Amino acid sequence: MERIFGRPIVTQEEMRARIRELGKQITADYTGKDLVLVGVLKGAYAFYADLARAIRVPLRVDFLMVTSYGSRTKTSGKVKMVTELTEEIKGKDVLLVEDIVDSGLTVQYLLKTLGKKKPRSIKVCTLLSKPERRTIDVTIDYEGFRIPNKYVVGYGLDYQQEYRNLPYLAVLDVAEDQE
Ligand code: 5GP
Repeated sequence: MERIFGRPIVTQEEMRARIRELGKQITADYTGKDLVLVGVLKGAYAFYADLARAIRVPLRVDFLMVTSYGSRTKTSGKVKMVTELTEEIKGKDVLLVEDIVDSGLTVQYLLKTLGKKKPRSIKVCTLLSKPERRTIDVTIDYEGFRIPNKYVVGYGLDYQQEYRNLPYLAVLDVAEDQE
């Protein structure tokens, strides 16, 4: 199978600058609140670590893991939570941290599932968004970058569990018929 990287669609510098801005915005919005930052693993891990350090209000960290795509580039249309939160979120202000919002299915599922635990508020922060692919109308409160309908890897995002450590975001062209 051939794997070809185009040029970075988001560079490390662009990423750094945008995360600084998001951090400022979140800091202003969550001053005096009771913030729990919930990272959606695995994809959000790199963004999460940088974002958390750009936020200047007290917060608690927590994570959950979901599977939605299996190991291929096409969605299976199913979302499953494979780990639970360890922090109590009842009465707290939850900010979900996602790598990318594509169809909107994952975010919709998580808002519904976590909403049952009665947080005071629940909002969504995503590094990337592919508006063209949206099939479910979900509200995104903080968005890093809008990207076209291309499969991207790097900065936490994978293709078959690889490329997560690429320090920038790149389009992965995969010759599907050669898999
Ligand atoms: P959604 O539920 O919004 O359709 O999909 C969200 C999940 O799909 C993301 O958390 C991510 O795991 C995966 N995903 C969607 N688009 C891409 C992409 O371009 N690259 C990678 N690596 N994962 C993607």
